[in-house]
Amino acid sequence: MRLIFLGAPGAGKGTIASAIGKELGLPQVSTGDLFREAVKNGTELGLRVKSIMEKGELVSDELTVALARERLGRPDTAKGYILDGFPRTIPQAEALASFQRIDGAVNFLCSDEVVVRRLSGRRICRSCGAIYHVENMPPRREGVCDRCGGELYVRDDDRIDSIRNRLRVYREQTEPLIGYYRGRGLLHDIDSGQTVEKSLGELRKLLKKLRKAG
Ligand code: ADP
Repeated sequence: MRLIFLGAPGAGKGTIASAIGKELGLPQVSTGDLFREAVKNGTELGLRVKSIMEKGELVSDELTVALARERLGRPDTAKGYILDGFPRTIPQAEALASFQRIDGAVNFLCSDEVVVRRLSGRRICRSCGAIYHVENMPPRREGVCDRCGGELYVRDDDRIDSIRNRLRVYREQTEPLIGYYRGRGLLHDIDSGQTVEKSLGELRKLLKKLRKAG
């Protein structure tokens, strides 16, 4: 099963992709995570994308497609994958279509108000990448990861200026993908303004339907 997760930043794509990926045994391929890893490791790619990411702008299609293509060529994606945060522009979607056949695109719908609240309260584990929220999903001990004891931090682009910019960039560059995939009969909407468990429930039903149809 090759799936694309679409939706505004903060709509819950990453949290849901991680959970459903584990259930189905599919890797979650997040270009954002791959870029963040490059920044953390100080690689050449990392140095090129660091300031772009901090501002909430998009990395160039060329770099992003090359990264995604390399990742999707690895053996763990042979049985399928969940693309989280890629494609994010029409040219990226076209590039993807030239080398992969996709089974479905899931659109996570969520209001701006909820998105801002979620992103500004988001905390991430520096060691294992687990995602928390100060109100909705607090760790047992403040600032410490329940899973691995790692330190929790606020992503540079989860500050209010960057959040607003990411939403604007999403509207302008990524939202057109909804029409792109709808036109190809691949789009499915999920309400992600509700709890993670409820969104996951909806998604499980949808995937069952897709598997039957496929
Ligand atoms: P978000 O929470 O905004 O969905 P991601 O972790 O997916 O965050 O991405 C963080 C940043 O990484 C983006 O703001 C952008 O700078 C860069 N990035 C990730 N995926 C892409 C992509 N497909 N195209 C361009 N830039 C990307």
